[in-house]
Amino acid sequence: MDGGRIRLCQLPTPVHQLHRLSQELDIDLWIKRDDLTGFAGGGNKGRKLEYLMAQALKQNAEVIVTCGSRQSNFVRQLGGACAVLGLRCVAAVMRLPYEGPLGKPAAPCPAEGGNVVLDDLFGVELYLYDDGPWEDLFGHASDLAARERENGRSVFEVPIGGSSPLGAFAFAEAACEVETDFDAIVVPTSSGSTHAGLAWAFHGTSTKVFGIACDPEQDLLDDVCRLAGGIDELTGTKKGLLLQDLSLNREYVGEGYGVASRAGIEAQRLMARREAILLDPVYSAKAFSGLLGLARSGELGGKTLFWHTGGFPSLFATP
Ligand SMILES: *Cc1c(COP(=O)(O)O)cnc(C)c1O
Repeated sequence: MDGGRIRLCQLPTPVHQLHRLSQELDIDLWIKRDDLTGFAGGGNKGRKLEYLMAQALKQNAEVIVTCGSRQSNFVRQLGGACAVLGLRCVAAVMRLPYEGPLGKPAAPCPAEGGNVVLDDLFGVELYLYDDGPWEDLFGHASDLAARERENGRSVFEVPIGGSSPLGAFAFAEAACEVETDFDAIVVPTSSGSTHAGLAWAFHGTSTKVFGIACDPEQDLLDDVCRLAGGIDELTGTKKGLLLQDLSLNREYVGEGYGVASRAGIEAQRLMARREAILLDPVYSAKAFSGLLGLARSGELGGKTLFWHTGGFPSLFATP
């Protein structure tokens, strides 16, 4: 692959043991602090953007167009990347996009404040649409991109969550920052490239990657598998991951994407009150509730790494 990358994050991010929780849960628990990338409020999207923005610059983009929920951490970090590179950032957002066949969750979802405040600070041009299925949101983003092109702008479109094969490759690279002696890595899965990159990197080793779904999408595992295949193509290293090589647990999504779950809130409190580390309600708290479930059912033995993907601004989201 052509190895274009720009530096945005302070890497490697720290890895450290969680002493109190290790004792309490009776496992050897460690944490990877991608909440501390030092870039645009931190979080897993910074790593993907180092590669995606290099590609955008190579294509002489003037405007980056993407989409997400109104509390999207990706839109926020993309806004930061566009700010430092002097590009415009245009984002189509909905308060609560949802899986069409499942319908919109009934539970309320705080959508204002939080990341929206930071989007404004970074100068993101946000277009808010009525809630609808994800496909509608993707359509709005394509329309915004088409409009920019009609106005003569050079546009670079980024898929939801930065989940292209290149975004996934960023996490195959991130895997090099951790020791190889972990028995398990637990990570939230939504648009899938974080999980895909880590699963690809650790395939064939003694480290098992457990994805915890934060999204009820039926095809989520297919997405992860396809992204892992994309890394094969980018790198020319054919690992050929199959669905059965991947682990995705769907028991911790709660009522839907973007809606806090009861188990997630408990997990968030536990992490805050034992380790003073902040988890977000949409992703990392649900993933940690999954880790707690796996630990309690005895599925995690040995040395376990919780991959903290960031997201703290949505703690401050308001209705
Ligand atoms: C986007 C995001 C995730 C999910 O990562 P994907 O690569 O989209 O699966 C997890 N945690 C946080 C905080 C995120 O912003």
